[in-house]
Amino acid sequence: MYWNKDIETLDRDGLEKMQLALLRKTVEQAGHSPYYQLLFQQEGIAPDTIKGLDDIRRIPFITKDTLREHYPYGFLAVPRGQIVRMHSSSGTTGRATVIFHTARDIDEWAGLVARCMYMTGVRPDDVFQNMMGYGLFTGGLGFHYGAEKLGAMVIPAGAGNSKRQIMLMQEFDATVIHIIPSYGLHLVETFRTMGIDPHKDLKLRIAFIGAEPHTEETRQRIEQAYGVKAYNSYGLSEMNGPGVAFECPCQNGLHTWEDSYILEVIDPATLEPVPDGVEGELVFTSLRREGMPLLRYRTRDLAFVYPEPCPCGRTHRRISRIKGRTDDMLIVKGVNMFPIQIEKALMAIPEVGSNFQIILDTIDDNDFMTVKAEIRAEMFTGDLKHLESVRKRIIDDLRSELLVTPRVELVEPDTLPKSEGKAVRVFDNRKQWG
Ligand code: ADP
Ligand code: ZN
Repeated sequence: MYWNKDIETLDRDGLEKMQLALLRKTVEQAGHSPYYQLLFQQEGIAPDTIKGLDDIRRIPFITKDTLREHYPYGFLAVPRGQIVRMHSSSGTTGRATVIFHTARDIDEWAGLVARCMYMTGVRPDDVFQNMMGYGLFTGGLGFHYGAEKLGAMVIPAGAGNSKRQIMLMQEFDATVIHIIPSYGLHLVETFRTMGIDPHKDLKLRIAFIGAEPHTEETRQRIEQAYGVKAYNSYGLSEMNGPGVAFECPCQNGLHTWEDSYILEVIDPATLEPVPDGVEGELVFTSLRREGMPLLRYRTRDLAFVYPEPCPCGRTHRRISRIKGRTDDMLIVKGVNMFPIQIEKALMAIPEVGSNFQIILDTIDDNDFMTVKAEIRAEMFTGDLKHLESVRKRIIDDLRSELLVTPRVELVEPDTLPKSEGKAVRVFDNRKQWG
């Protein structure tokens, strides 16, 4: 059940001692990079000034902008000859940032991903189809190396090409898949058009879904359609990629691997820590990276820490599902909302298909929100008129979730543009006036 029982179940005291020792080492290692060398001089920070874990608070936060300002090599803490790989972020919110790894970094990272996969029940006799983009994006190679370390057989399918994906699953008896949740929903339509019933025709039992915010409703749809248990996988390129926090078999919160990262949750406005159970911005410090250690990286991702221990016996603190990034928040008619709230309402309605869009306009100085939702193929009989009651139900459900009444347009199945990577759902046409 455990990949590394001693570490996964280490008590709080043991974990904190380990973190302190690794934090000092990380400060020492980071001090070799141009950015931290200067910063530590200015702030009077050195490994021996870190006396307790609280002293981390003397180190200033960094953000994607700090990484961009010191692009590309400003955070490199080893001679370039020791680097064996680079990755980059997806560039969801602007210019992509780059991360460099030594051979040891890659090995540590693979160990974390193997731990996550093992935790959910993956074993060497599994066939793992990795449907994430290979290349600069961390979801592909990150999982690939983890699965190989665990000893599973990997099908490095990469992203896209839905029919081939399904053919591979079928011909090679894939038991485990890794997929972006929005793409996972699209693929359900392809199963249908190919006449494949995953429950009967495939051997799948586990799915890893991550890389973008998604709801419990989306997880349930994927579980039901594929006949799998779906586990939430959270990571970010700045902290390697996948393997930062992952759901255990309890499927209730994601264990953050605290032997490899220090997690802080802060109020994004005051930058002060928030108590467990209170939502805030996740901040991570890498504890085992030598190529490019990063301290107190502000993710902009919003979640909270579960105060209670997990029944699975792992002691590493759990974070909640990510609600979105601070910059995903939409303000419509003065009301704050996250795209995930719209997903939640839509995915709970069985007639709604896999894809939707949120369009914001300004008309006569007023905000105007339109939600376009695809109808599920089985429900579509050639015209949308008989679905008026569904449309009304969607409006009601969105109104009670958002406290704003959107316009809702139903569209035919498979007509909204799809993405093979992270979904793009929000089209805010108001910004040109802003
Ligand atoms: P970018 O930050 O440009 O999107 P990354 O590929 O590094 O590039 O993506 C990391 C980000 O993806 C995270 O900071 C988070 O916003 C999002 N993300 C990753 N995994 C999840 C997940 N399981 N749930 C919600 N969001 C996630
Ligand atoms: Zn657990």
